[in-house]
Amino acid sequence: MTTTYTPAPPIWCAGCGHFGAQAAISGALRELDIPAHETMVLAGIGCSGTVQNNLGTYGYHALHGRVLPTATGVHLANPDLTVIAAGGDGDGYAIGMGHLVHTFRRNPSFAYIVMNNGVYGLTKGQGSPTFQPDGAALEFDAASLALSIPTTTFIARGFARWTDQLNRLTVAALEHARERRGFAFLEVLSPCVTYNDTYPAWEATLHDLDASDAHDPTDRTAAFGTVAALATEGRMAVGMIYRNGASPADDPMRPVAAKVGREANASAFAKILDRYRS
Ligand code: SF4
Ligand code: MG
Repeated sequence: MTTTYTPAPPIWCAGCGHFGAQAAISGALRELDIPAHETMVLAGIGCSGTVQNNLGTYGYHALHGRVLPTATGVHLANPDLTVIAAGGDGDGYAIGMGHLVHTFRRNPSFAYIVMNNGVYGLTKGQGSPTFQPDGAALEFDAASLALSIPTTTFIARGFARWTDQLNRLTVAALEHARERRGFAFLEVLSPCVTYNDTYPAWEATLHDLDASDAHDPTDRTAAFGTVAALATEGRMAVGMIYRNGASPADDPMRPVAAKVGREANASAFAKILDRYRS
């Protein structure tokens, strides 16, 4: 299927930040030499949710807000796949919020890329949980939430316009997931030029953590302090916010995977495939 399927051209407005996020995803898959047939991109509902139509990988369009449990199931069923969940702030931080908290807690090894623009672009620009007038710093900050949950292992934020950094962070997120080091959470500040053009405000106020040696991304407490201090100045941190040295042996999903994974169900899986072969 990944050979015969022709990816669709994006349907986004010219200038939408999602182009940057998609370019970073395809660039990272290329750079890491991950074949399309070993990659599964699952997406939520919204403008950003169409990203899986535009890539030559396996794809799945999940129910609204349900991309994380679906991606967890895919990862458990076949841990050899590189699994990327993608979606927007409306999908992930409103209807999907319960799943986000528990996916941080469970720490399964796949990447989640949230394209955050503060609005529900697909339904004409209603404010989402991250909407702030004039592109001010977020009142709801997923990075702070992630830092407050002790099991999180990878927290990063990029900006669609700062492509070099976004490319690096996307590669790092995929590597973290592929090395079975846990859940790689990457938020992309991805302006909606049609309903909430935050390019100028974000460009002027973002603070790049990667540009300073003072930030140690392995220090959770310091990262928490930095993000909170920036918020009091009305600014947001971008870059590698936190990444710990978790090893595959720490994977809390291992016992679950042993019960529901491909090996455990090899004969049932073979029977299903035989039905399609005959
Ligand atoms: Fe992007 Fe906004 Fe257009 Fe949707 S409405 S494609 S989020 S610019
Ligand atoms: Mg949105």
